[in-house]
Amino acid sequence: MNKKYYVENLVNHNHTLTNCSIDIHDDEIVEVKEGKCPKDNFCYSYAIPGFIDIHTHGGNGYELMDNNMEALYSISEFYLKNGTTSFLTSTVTDFLPKIEKVLSTVSLFIPINKKLAKEGKQAECIGVHLEGPWLSHKNLGAQNPKCCIVPKESSLNLIEKYQEIIKMVTFSYHTSESEKFLQFLVEREIIPACGHDEAIDEQIVLGFEKGIQVITHIYCVTSGFQRKGGLKHLGTLEMALMNDGVKVEVIADGKHITKYFWSFIKHNKSFDDILIISDSMRCAGLPEDPNKIYKLGDMDVIIDNGVAWLNDKSTFAGSVATMYTNFKRLIKEWGVGINDAVKICSYNQSKLLKCGNLGEIKPGKTADILLLDKELNIQKIIKSGVEFEFI
Ligand SMILES: [Zn+2]
Ligand SMILES: [Zn+2]
Repeated sequence: MNKKYYVENLVNHNHTLTNCSIDIHDDEIVEVKEGKCPKDNFCYSYAIPGFIDIHTHGGNGYELMDNNMEALYSISEFYLKNGTTSFLTSTVTDFLPKIEKVLSTVSLFIPINKKLAKEGKQAECIGVHLEGPWLSHKNLGAQNPKCCIVPKESSLNLIEKYQEIIKMVTFSYHTSESEKFLQFLVEREIIPACGHDEAIDEQIVLGFEKGIQVITHIYCVTSGFQRKGGLKHLGTLEMALMNDGVKVEVIADGKHITKYFWSFIKHNKSFDDILIISDSMRCAGLPEDPNKIYKLGDMDVIIDNGVAWLNDKSTFAGSVATMYTNFKRLIKEWGVGINDAVKICSYNQSKLLKCGNLGEIKPGKTADILLLDKELNIQKIIKSGVEFEFI
C-alpha cells in the first residue's frame, strides 16, 4: 500500500529538510522529495523517526517480569501509543530460574510481536536487556539484594541458551568472574553495559578496552569517586565521562537526571555518546496516587511527584517517563536542538543495536515515523508504514 505525507520539517539526526513529502510503500520509505504541500493536503509541522528505548521494564500496569503474554502485549502497545516504535525489554534482578522463564516467554512473544508490529499495532521488541543479577551489593538501588550474584557457569549457560534474543547485559565489572563474563559477552556480540557497580578507575578502564560499550543509567547507582585502602580512586562514572566512545544512558525525566546533571553530562560527552532511555516501570502511564502500592519484581513501590520510589522512600525505583516525555523535556526545558534530540532518542540506539533500517527518515528505511504539530504534540504515529489507531 502507498501513502504520502507532507511535512514542513523532516528532522533527522544530522539535518532538517523543509517543505517536503514522504512516500511510503508497505513498510518502507521509498522517497523523500522537496516541494510545497498542495492546497488540499494536510501539512504536519515535524516528521521525526520513532523512538527506540533500549532500557524499559514496562508501563500501563504491566512489566516484563510479570512473565505472561498479556503483559508483553500491553506494554508493547503502550510504548507505541507513546511514540516508541522499537525497544529492548528489560528484566530486573531476580533468581536465574525466574529469568529463564521470562526469556522463554519473550522467545514465544517475539514472532507474534513481529507480525503485530508490521500491522502497526505494537512497538517492535528487538530483544532483551538483562539488568543483572550480576550487580554490586554496594549499588543495588531498587534491585533485590537476595538475587544478586557473580557470573558463574549457570549464568553463562543461561545466556548461551538465549543468545539470539539477549542484546545487552548490565553487570558490575569488579570481580575476576566479571572479566571472563565480559569476554563471553563480547564473543557473542551482546552489548556489555556496566551499572549498579563498584568498579574503580583501573578496573573499568580495562573494561572499556575489552569491550564495555555502555554505562547503564549514569548517575543512578553508578560507582563514583571513592577511597580504597586509603588511596583515592575515580569510579565508573568519572571514567565514562572522560572516555570518548563510551556511551552513557540518561534517564531524562528531570528526576533521575535533573537539569544541572544534564549540563554536566553534556559538558563532558558529545551527543554521539548519549542514549536517552525511559527505564520505565509498570506505573508509567498510570495516574499518580501516593497511597497505592505497586510491585517492581519483589519490591513494593509507590509513585510520588512524577517518579517511582521504594515504599520507604529511601531511593527511586525506576521512572514513570516515556521516551516522548523525555524528548519533549530535552527540547523545551533543557534547550537541546531537535536534530540532537532525535540523535539521542533514536539514531544512536539504532547504531548501537546495528539496526540499520531504523532511526532515520530516508528512502530504504523502515517507515517508523512520528508526525508532530508545532508544539511537538504527537499527531500521528506510523509503525512499519501503518498508522497507529488510538482507541
Ligand atoms: Zn537500574
Ligand atoms: Zn532499569
